[in-house]
Parts: sequence; C-alpha cells; structure tokens
Amino acid sequence: MLNVLTPTEVIDVINKHFTKTTFQYEKIFTVNSVGRILHTDIISNEDVPGFDRSTVDGYAVRASDTFGSSESIPAVMTVTHEILMGKIITTSLNKETDENPANITIDENNNPCVAISTGGAVPEGFDAVVMVEHTESYSDNMIGISKPVAPGNNIIFKGDDVSKGDLVLKAGAELTVHDVGVLAALGFEYINVRKKPRIGIISTGDELVNITDTPSDGEVRDVNGCMLAAAAKKYGGIEVSYGIVRDDEESLINVLKNCIKNLDCDIILISGGSSAGDKDKTAKVIESLGELLFHGIAIKPGKPTILGIVNEKPVFGLPGHPVAAYMVFELFVREVISCYLGTTIKRKTTIAKLNEAISANHGREEIVPVKLVNGVAIPIKGKSGLISKLIDINGYIIIPRNCEGLSKGTEVELVYV
Ligand code: AMP
Ligand code: MG
Repeated sequence: MLNVLTPTEVIDVINKHFTKTTFQYEKIFTVNSVGRILHTDIISNEDVPGFDRSTVDGYAVRASDTFGSSESIPAVMTVTHEILMGKIITTSLNKETDENPANITIDENNNPCVAISTGGAVPEGFDAVVMVEHTESYSDNMIGISKPVAPGNNIIFKGDDVSKGDLVLKAGAELTVHDVGVLAALGFEYINVRKKPRIGIISTGDELVNITDTPSDGEVRDVNGCMLAAAAKKYGGIEVSYGIVRDDEESLINVLKNCIKNLDCDIILISGGSSAGDKDKTAKVIESLGELLFHGIAIKPGKPTILGIVNEKPVFGLPGHPVAAYMVFELFVREVISCYLGTTIKRKTTIAKLNEAISANHGREEIVPVKLVNGVAIPIKGKSGLISKLIDINGYIIIPRNCEGLSKGTEVELVYV
C-alpha cells in the first residue's frame, strides 16, 4: 500500500526534514563564481567610487560661474589645468591653509576650470562638470560655455555607488556575471560560496544497458542516469553517476551504502523500481537502511515516487519512465537541492492560452508538459514512456486534483523548464 501525499504535503515533508541552518562552504576565485550560491553577506569595506568622478569628458567648473550662460552669451572660463586619468590635483581657490596645503592655487576671480575626462577625479573646489559638447575653445586656454550646469551635474560623488558598510550582496544569492563586476569593484578576489551537493545517481532495472551499448530486444538504454546527471549539474549539484544496478535487493543495498559512505553523496536518486510490485526494491532498501518518509505522490506523472532518509541523507526513489523522472526532479528534487544550498527556487512563468481541451478526472494533480508557440500552450501528448516527448517540452502546466479538465482557450500559467 502506498502512503500517498499531495504535492503540497511533499514540499512540507522536504522542508521539515531537510531545511538547513548551517551550510558547508568553500573559498573560490570570484571569477569562477557565476551560478554559485554566496555563503556570507558581502559588506563593502570602502566607498565606491573612492573619489568624486566625472561622468563625461569636459571641464570641471564651479556651477555658479556658468549660470546665465547661453549660446549667444557664453560664460568665458580659463582652463588652468588638465586632470590626467588616475591622477588627482589638489587645488585651492586662493584659500591655501597649513592644514590643507594645496599644490595648486587658482585665481578664483578668473572663472577657473580644469579639463577632465570621463572617470577623472574632480578636484576640490569644483562642483560640476560641463560636457565638452557644450563648450567652445578660444585661444590662450580660454573656453566659452554655452549651457549652464547645476551643482552636482555630471559627477558621481565618493560613495554614491556603494558606501562603506553597505550590504551589497546577501548570503544565499545566486551569483551572476554582473555581481562578479560589483565584487571586482570592491576588491574581492575570492569569496565563500556554498558547497555543491554531491548527487548520487543510480539507475535500476534488469532491462537497462549503458548508453554506449546497442540494446537487444527487451533492453533499453539507461536514459535516466544521463538525464538526471545533467539536471543535477544544471541545478547546482555535482553528479556522482553510479551506473546501472539490477533489480536485486542486496546489490542495491550495497550500492546505496557505497554512495553514502565512500562516495560521500549528499542526495541520492534511485530511478526505477519505485512502485510497490515484487520487482520494485527501492522502498524496501531504503526501509532496511533508514526511514521511509512517504511512498507515492498524488500526481500524474510521478505517482511512484519515494523519499526516505538514510544516514540523514535524502534518498529519492524516482519513477523509471524518463518523462516522469524528469518532472519529479523539476518539482521535488530541486526543492531538496535548494534546502541543501539555502536558496529559494524562482520558477519563471508565463500566461498562455490552451490550444485544445484537456480532460483530467483521476483525482491526482496533473502535470501536463507543454510546448509554447506564440503564446499558445500545446499539450505534449502520447503514450506514457515516449522519450521523444521530452524534446518538445518548454514547460508544464498544472491541473489541480479536483479539476475535471480545462477547455480550449483557457488562460493557463505555464512554468518554464
Ligand atoms: P519502473 O519504474 O522500474 O517500473 O520502470 C518503468 C519504465 O521505465 C519501464 O518501462 C522501464 O524500462 C523504464 N525505465 C526504468 N529506468 C529507466 C532508465 N534509467 N532509463 C530509461 N528507461 C527506464
Ligand atoms: Mg524496473
């Protein structure tokens, strides 16, 4: 007898048993961190930028000197210096003091300005930058400004971007290429990220052969071993592919023990043999080594799914049918990986119109794989077990367990995979 749970109950069981409060982590080069999960909050140790920077090519000015300027009556200014990239000049507008010795003294009565490039350091005493496009060069280091600027124009001030003490990235964030840019700006060559879970993958079935073999009549290639390894990798795990095990309790017990002890797997997936027939050994094996949390989910496809705990490690029994195994991975195995990494799954969805009616009256929530074409969801049909169904899948829609079906044209929420 299967102790069947609803999908919501399954998620509750997963969260109850596998939510972590402490995480394993490792230090890696920031450049290698895209897709990894940040272990600790990143707090800035410094202001970025560390100085007031021009955002344009032009002239640093005192904004008040430009007030009233126009194309017909430009403000005439004296270019006293040029600021080189990577250099600063300390200026004082006729106000040099002992505490603040300046290396340059500028006659403040002369409408002074300094030439500056994008990213250059705006000297003290100047409060705006005029774009070069709004200036005209005269002889003798004089320029005319044809458009006034307000204080602060075209300057990023020290700490504008990030201030010292700011929380820049939160623990648990999945790092992106642009996050790496921010980390580089803050000087983080290395960061701590959550360790990837090692996901042991075992395929069971007397009829299975390796994908490099040509199956004889009655045999099939081990699709799940390869597909689940790819899924494990995609969702942040390290695949530990065990290969094929025959439908034999003792062999499976040994392999499972090996996966946990010698191969140090954090999550184990056993596909095939997850129903309650004589040939189905997964439930018995988990029970003999640990505890069975449930056997069966009120879902189609995917009913014969098992979850247990052996040595505190989650062990899934997944259905043998590849489409079902894949869907159960998407819906539930990912939840366990998220618990391990301390992340929340963000599923991308869209609203689509059904291109045909779907009936569903079997009392189980139905996961319907669909293809999305120009905003229209086309259910992928076919006898269960057809591998080619996998190729067309863009996502799935969920028909609730007590819904009799959906009519053509219904707006449905498609979850991308
Ligand atoms: P089972 O869950 O063991 O009853 O298997 C259900 C169906 O899935 C059977 O037709 C199996 O041959 C097939 N199957 C089981 N495991 C795999 C696998 N690793 N790759 C491809 N097909 C499989
Ligand atoms: Mg089997």
